[in-house]
Amino acid sequence: MAGTLWFQTAVLLCFLRGALGAGARLYTEEDPLVILSSSSLKPTVSNSSSAWLVQFYSSWCGHCIQYSSTWKALAQDVKDWDQAIGVAVLDCAQEENFDVCKEYGIHFYPTFRYFRAHGRPDDQGTTYRGADREIQTVRQLMVNFLQNHTKLDWPDLCPPLEPYSSAELLPLLGQRSDHYTAVIIEEPDSYVGREVILDLLQYSGVVVRRALAADRPLLDTLGVTAFPSAYLLLPNGTHTQLAVQKRLRFFFSSLLRLLPGVQRRARRGGGGDGGHTGALTGRPSSEAWRDFDSSQVYLADLESALHYLLRVELATHSTLEGEELKTFKDFVTIVAKLYPGGGSVVKLMDTLLEWLLSLPLDRIPYQAVLDLVDNKMRISGVFLGAELRWVGCQGSRVGLRGYPCSLWTLFHVLTVQHDAMPNALENTALEDEAAPVLQVMRRYIRTFFGCEQCGRHFEQAAADSLHRVQSREQQIVWLWNQHNMVNNRLAGSLSEDPLFPKAPWPSPALCASCHEEKDGVHVWNQENVLSFLRKHYGAGNLSPKYSVTPQHLPAPPAPPSRPQEDRLGGGRGGRAGAGGGGGAGGEKQPEKTRGAEEQPAAPQQVERTAVQEAAGLSGGAGPAGGAGPAGGAGPAGGAGPAGGAGRGGVWALALGFNSVDMSLCVLLYVCSCLFLMLLFFFFRVRSRRWKLRHNRPFV
Ligand SMILES: Cc1cc2nc3c(=O)[nH]c(=O)nc-3n(C[C@H](O)[C@H](O)[C@H](O)COP(=O)(O)OP(=O)(O)OC[C@H]3O[C@@H](n4cnc5c(N)ncnc54)[C@H](O)[C@@H]3O)c2cc1C
Repeated sequence: MAGTLWFQTAVLLCFLRGALGAGARLYTEEDPLVILSSSSLKPTVSNSSSAWLVQFYSSWCGHCIQYSSTWKALAQDVKDWDQAIGVAVLDCAQEENFDVCKEYGIHFYPTFRYFRAHGRPDDQGTTYRGADREIQTVRQLMVNFLQNHTKLDWPDLCPPLEPYSSAELLPLLGQRSDHYTAVIIEEPDSYVGREVILDLLQYSGVVVRRALAADRPLLDTLGVTAFPSAYLLLPNGTHTQLAVQKRLRFFFSSLLRLLPGVQRRARRGGGGDGGHTGALTGRPSSEAWRDFDSSQVYLADLESALHYLLRVELATHSTLEGEELKTFKDFVTIVAKLYPGGGSVVKLMDTLLEWLLSLPLDRIPYQAVLDLVDNKMRISGVFLGAELRWVGCQGSRVGLRGYPCSLWTLFHVLTVQHDAMPNALENTALEDEAAPVLQVMRRYIRTFFGCEQCGRHFEQAAADSLHRVQSREQQIVWLWNQHNMVNNRLAGSLSEDPLFPKAPWPSPALCASCHEEKDGVHVWNQENVLSFLRKHYGAGNLSPKYSVTPQHLPAPPAPPSRPQEDRLGGGRGGRAGAGGGGGAGGEKQPEKTRGAEEQPAAPQQVERTAVQEAAGLSGGAGPAGGAGPAGGAGPAGGAGPAGGAGRGGVWALALGFNSVDMSLCVLLYVCSCLFLMLLFFFFRVRSRRWKLRHNRPFV
């Protein structure tokens, strides 16, 4: 008893210590800065190839706590400058750092110290004492500090920040080169040019120079009249002024990064934890490149996502039960109700949902799901292409982009669809959730997503802030914001495709009105971002080009026509009826509003018979039946999903009838009728003759 009490106390103390310790950490490894300690400070800042800006703080200092978000935002803002000047922190409140903070004479918190590149080991840095510690001021001080370096101690990889003259620049006009040269022409006190130079520091294929607005020969030759302006010298020798919607640093940098052939250089030791992506993507290097428009969303990517998810990622689970089964049902529900793409995919998901909901089982063999996904029972109009065909998600080489890209895309589309069709989840178990799409995504990523580390990150983000999402609009914006945080974290990592560098999205080229500047710092116009997302991921922006789902599916062998076929049509509310046909105009409406004109033409009307049979039979395969999908896989069933014998009987009966079988049945039925009619006439004629024969003596 005493032992148990001791153990519980120890566990509680450990937990409290962990919680307090975690709470005291203002900065974590997730932040885009370097966390220094007594042992790493000197080796990092002395004789370094780059300059450093270090904040010495104390984790108990209230101001430091409040200021930490600004410091993180600054670090994010200048993340791409780190080969010229790095941003770091050191916590003087940590016992192990007491001595080093004393040695560096840190008396107040926070203290900002600049360390020159190639500094001596005894260099204790230069303290910045200004009162203004806002991002723009500190950023400009960083530029000034870099410019204070001499030629001798200039940071190795920092490009020149001084303005170029017309005498140096004009001879470049008309010259061919292996890179672009961008010249930012600006007033002398403007920082835009120098900031853009540093923003592009990690990119190859483009060189940025700065020139001054006072340089008349340059302005006259180039015809530049407004400042700041960017003038572009192309590799083929031509030159032109760069058209930007707003003359802001963010716009110049974003446009230059997106020039064809401009790529982020691979970082030495660049981290990134998306090691899974290589295994997930499927573009063989021999596959032809598919031209696409980045302002569109491609159905082929969504279909490939579902194909991979249903046939590969989930198929690693031989059975689904408990939390996994619930997550799967919820996922199928949101896709069935909200997926805007091709009719046959929706019909597949509807069918799957119909079947899952009708199963009174808490464990199903995944093979049964696969049979449905592969449409083994040949239900008319149900189809999901079994091919990875990345378009907007294709990578420049095998192992990049692909599935994770398409999964993001799918969930963005679903959040926007939920906003466009607020009642779509009515009468489902999800209708009362505040952010159903995100909750289902969270559960899916946690339960099934192959990249475990990604799942942990996403779960952490969801645990921190998902509870604040209370509306459909917030749902869209939360996912966008979360995705951008992941983009920021992964920029420059090994999983980044150099052809598609990770950057804040949407770029100014996609949505200029989404971007603004406040106090010299880039800010998002959230309202415009929301309308952009609604349009970009809306049904009207889905392109069927390259779609894996054929425009017209080959007709399966004609089943016997049955007029009142759609017995399930009105069964459930919302989208359940969407695929059911049934003739009611109201039921067809949703199909149309989901961008029907862009979708591949829906195949024939859905024959729901087999699904009904599946549903009906699986009901029959309950406790008494002992067969069916559960029977084979159930705890008592003995045989695993692959065992299939027990499952086979009823499963075949449930879904194994194909159209040929049905035709034979009808033929048999007709023959039996004819035979019975023949018998009837035969006996009638015989009885007449018999009567005649017996009646003759009386005549
Ligand atoms: C939930 C989730 C978590 C992940 N976590 C990690 C992780 O922790 N570590 C890791 O290494 N990898 C992670 N990944 C993978 C990583 O985010 C990328 O998907 C992968 O590196 C492929 O990147 P990409 O260049 O194709 O663009 P992606 O980031 O996959 O983006 C796909 C497309 O979405 C659009 N887009 C980009 N940003 C946004 C935005 N903010 N809002 C809306 N649309 C946008 C663009 O058109 C882009 O092409 C995660 C993936 C998912 C689905």
